[in-house]
Amino acid sequence: MNNKDLANLIFPNINKTIMDYENIYPKRNLPEGSIVTRYAPSPTGFIHIGALLASFIASSFSKQTNGVVILRIEDTDTKRTMDNGIEIIINGLREYGVIFDEGPISENEEIGSYGPYIQSNRKEIYHAFVKYLLEEGKAYPCFCSEEELETTRNMQTQARERIGYYGKWAKCRNNSIEESYNRIKNNEPFVIRFKSPGDFNKIITYTDVIKGNIEMPENDLDIVIMKSDGLPTYHFAHLVDDHLMRTTHVIRADEWVPSVPIHIQLFEAFNFEKPYFCHISPLLKNDEGSIRKLSKRKDPECAMSFYHELGVPNESVLLYLATIANSDFEEWYLKNKDKNISDFTFTFDKIGKSGALFDIEKLKNISKEFISTLKANDLYDRVSDYLLKYDNEFYQIFTKDKDYSIKILNIQREVEKPRKDLTHYGGVKNEYIYMYDELYDKLEKHYIYPYITDKEEVKCILKVYIDKYYDQNDNQEDWFNKIKDLSQEFGYAREVKDFKNNQSMYKGHVGDVSTILRIALTSRDKTIDLYSIMQLLGKNRIEDRYNKIIDE
Ligand code: GLU
Repeated sequence: MNNKDLANLIFPNINKTIMDYENIYPKRNLPEGSIVTRYAPSPTGFIHIGALLASFIASSFSKQTNGVVILRIEDTDTKRTMDNGIEIIINGLREYGVIFDEGPISENEEIGSYGPYIQSNRKEIYHAFVKYLLEEGKAYPCFCSEEELETTRNMQTQARERIGYYGKWAKCRNNSIEESYNRIKNNEPFVIRFKSPGDFNKIITYTDVIKGNIEMPENDLDIVIMKSDGLPTYHFAHLVDDHLMRTTHVIRADEWVPSVPIHIQLFEAFNFEKPYFCHISPLLKNDEGSIRKLSKRKDPECAMSFYHELGVPNESVLLYLATIANSDFEEWYLKNKDKNISDFTFTFDKIGKSGALFDIEKLKNISKEFISTLKANDLYDRVSDYLLKYDNEFYQIFTKDKDYSIKILNIQREVEKPRKDLTHYGGVKNEYIYMYDELYDKLEKHYIYPYITDKEEVKCILKVYIDKYYDQNDNQEDWFNKIKDLSQEFGYAREVKDFKNNQSMYKGHVGDVSTILRIALTSRDKTIDLYSIMQLLGKNRIEDRYNKIIDE
């Protein structure tokens, strides 16, 4: 009896050899330097912002080198799989421009000739590779029960030895072929373990494309490569898939760095060329002074739904992620605001070696910049789409008079220095609430007038302004001159500098008076351009609002 007999007993129906698979999935015919990479999520139906970052980096590198980016669904951990999980990932990433060349395009269709791309559909392939290792004597069945493994761990703890299945602790490693054969024939449950050739006392060095040289002890653990349900573990599936899909660069989270010695050994066991490993550090958060990983459980900003609900443009999120991805991106973008992210060439050496702090304030600033570059029409469409989904009441009001809303959005927009007051679409309502009577009338208003504190004086100013000075037909210059006339009539300086030079002569200056006009109209001391607000509201509405205050 030999290894082949054992392998045939375990996999009687696996007829294809690993050589057959070499031919089915030949080397890709791509130009020198093309990057073939993949994004390999579990279909949990949740997109973590760090996952968007990783998939965005993967797709950027492949696109800019005319390579291939693959979506591979890692569903061998069946507990983590959720219905529609695949479509949620595909659609969720597509919105951000992350589009895959190969992989599933829905729950049951896929594109590309290196598939199947869903791991649970690749069982036969994995089995051929496990079978090969068994035949070579590089893997063996292990019959240890959970209890036995637990006992070993306890003994190791007591003896102050390293925990794990290795060396003398690897009980089934030296089982004879006959014993294994008979136990399998007797239907004893088993897993398959890799027979590690490593020595923990030796150091290996590998060069991570992002992190540089990393030294680690060799792996000597006989890791499980096939579970008792016949599915491979992550380590083994990674080897088979990344080899057969002809991945050149494994771009993944740095939680996998400690497993690299295992992966190197697995590639060597088959004599396969190793891919480049590129490990991305996690996004971090400053949690009241202590730095920790951004957590799906604790931090709402981890989920893409957080940005959707606020109405943060996808472009803003992506621009922010690009600044995290490459340290020189921001400088480039500030000089090239009219260009697309895809015009920038990302490089591995500009990816941070350690984690970047996720800074929501910075994201907001970037978003402000981005929204300020949008044309009013475009912004109107985006805001309407957003409101339709998230705020139906305001959607009705906002879209009732499209022209009017576009004019509001266009105040100080499409000019050389556009205003930067919006960080997200959801902010439109609060920012311009005073432009919509339906909302403004219902609002509980607090008029706090700085500088001019005498209520009666305020009322007089408003009355005289509306009766004598406001004319809808005035251009901005005439309009402002009239506010100066009004100021003068009430004893306020026409110019701020006159007031500063001779404070005892005046009650205040034109700025104080226009602040009164602004607050009485909007209940805010800071708004968009007052002239434009008045133009859009029109004399009747201004009069109504001022009269309400005058009559109080
Ligand atoms: N399914 C693995 C994960 O979600 C993928 C790691 C990899 O990209 O190889 O962590």
